Amino acid sequence: MSGLHQDCHMHPSFKTKPVYELNCSYCDHLVCVRGMRAILLADKTVELYSTDQPPPGMLLLVGPDYQTNNCQCKIQDTACCGCGCMVGYHVTVPCHSCLRSCNNGHFWMYHSNSVRPSERLDSTGKEIMVWASVPPSSNDEKMVPYKLPLYIECCR
Ligand SMILES: [Zn+2]
Ligand SMILES: [Zn+2]
Repeated sequence: MSGLHQDCHMHPSFKTKPVYELNCSYCDHLVCVRGMRAILLADKTVELYSTDQPPPGMLLLVGPDYQTNNCQCKIQDTACCGCGCMVGYHVTVPCHSCLRSCNNGHFWMYHSNSVRPSERLDSTGKEIMVWASVPPSSNDEKMVPYKLPLYIECCR
């Protein structure tokens, strides 16, 4: 988890956190449909967004794995598919201390200055969706449009 703020005492309120859609701040390309606001543990002034699963085909992994000074996690930079700008990173191999600590299970991070967040609405279109009501990523309607060409391909 690369040192994300993971406060176990806050766990009940985790479910009441809003779900964010994130657009690339450089080209406005959609790069996330289920983001959570998070704070870097090593530097609490650094704000991030994290997700369990980015929309298929919306992010590119760039360059080799590397480590930061924060912890032993191996990470890889991610770039927006629309413009190729760096928007965050993916934890490819989480370290022991991050796995031991209470975490939100998110291994995809977005730099808050590289994305533009908007609160995602629930199925009624009126209420802001919270993490307690977000569908599993495999069953998330917002993820589906990007899977559709593949689906058609398989059904022929
Ligand atoms: Zn780590
Ligand atoms: Zn972009």
